[in-house]
Parts: sequence; C-alpha cells; structure tokens
Amino acid sequence: MSSLSALRRFLVEPADQAPAQEVCEMCATPVPPQHPHLVQVAERRMICACGPCGFLFSNPGAGGGGYRRVPDRYLTDSDFELTDAQWDQLQIPVGMAFFLDNSTQGKIIACYPSPAGATESELGLETWTAGVGSGRLASELQPDVEALLVRRDSHGATEPRTAECLLVPVDACYRLVGLVRLHWRGFDGGADAWREIDNFFDALRELAVPVRAAT
Ligand SMILES: [Zn+2]
Ligand SMILES: [Zn+2]
Repeated sequence: MSSLSALRRFLVEPADQAPAQEVCEMCATPVPPQHPHLVQVAERRMICACGPCGFLFSNPGAGGGGYRRVPDRYLTDSDFELTDAQWDQLQIPVGMAFFLDNSTQGKIIACYPSPAGATESELGLETWTAGVGSGRLASELQPDVEALLVRRDSHGATEPRTAECLLVPVDACYRLVGLVRLHWRGFDGGADAWREIDNFFDALRELAVPVRAAT
C-alpha cells in the first residue's frame, strides 16, 4: 500500500466509517472520544487505543509488532525561519504543510491538506535540509509519530509573510486534514474554512511549549 492511501484510509475514518462507539483496536475495549493513538509503522496506519494499550506501547522498545505510541507533546520554536524562496521550493499550493519522517521509507514526506484529503508533495532532500529541516524542531522530530506543521501566514497583502512551525503529534495533522476536507469551499477555502483553521492553530499554540524550555 502506498503511504498516501494509508493516509487517506485514516482520513475517511472519523467522518465516514467510525462506529458510534469507538473501541481500542488492540483489545476491543470501548474508548472515550479522547484516547491514545498508535501508529502501525510499516503500513503507516493510525490505530485507536485504550489507556492501558497506549501505555503498553509508550516505550519505543516495547513495540515488537511495529507499533509506536503517538506522543502528546507540542513544541514551538520562535526562532524558526523560512524564506519565501525556501517556501516556494516546497511547491505547496496552500498556506500550510506538514512533514513526516517516515522510517520505513527512510525519508521525509511533505503533505498538505486539501479538499480531497492529505496530498503528498515531492520533497528533495536538499529542500528539506536547507529549509524546514534545518530548524531546531526538526532535530527533535520523532519518526512516524510526530510531524512538523508549518503555516505560512498570507493574511494582509501589505505585511511581510511569516512562517511558523509547530512540532505536533501526527494525529493532530490528520485532524487538520479532516477540518479542511469538511469546510473547504471553492478555490480559496472560504471564510468558514479559514476560521476553523485559525481556531485549530490557536488551540495548538496554546498546547505548545517553547522547544528550548522543553529540552
Ligand atoms: Zn486496548
Ligand atoms: Zn482514535
């Protein structure tokens, strides 16, 4: 299975396929709406877990079957910089993208949310190492279970554009993709979609701690 279809499969789950009562996919115990997630690394599949099963896989060495617990840390880096030229090289058509370190493929994957779900963008290694990958958050990024989420602010044409970067659990990116999929209208998304996106980023910022303080 391609990594993209694995992403898509996760993305359709909450809206289209989720049963009324979510259960832990490891032990079938019913779980509340907020619950841990595991990543099945080889298939890059997200799995809902109960507290005890999530705890069981919290230690990366405990995986055995190739599962890793999605952590719940959120980090921000006020020193993060991305020039217009570096952003343009990424060839992302919307003002946000997320970057995953895929251990199975041994490479960084760039994705962006679109009305069709998560879309992958080709990312050359040089583009990564010279841009987003050169920041402090990139050195903190855990493979498969965390992502670097970059937002480039294009509001207000007269102001200089700024880019911000957050290190987030990978399931947060899928929630963002779900939001875009649900609310995006027309070419530019429309006011409703951007309100949802702004709220989502506000919530992430509230959870995030500066990377320097955290390490
Ligand atoms: Zn369980
Ligand atoms: Zn879940």
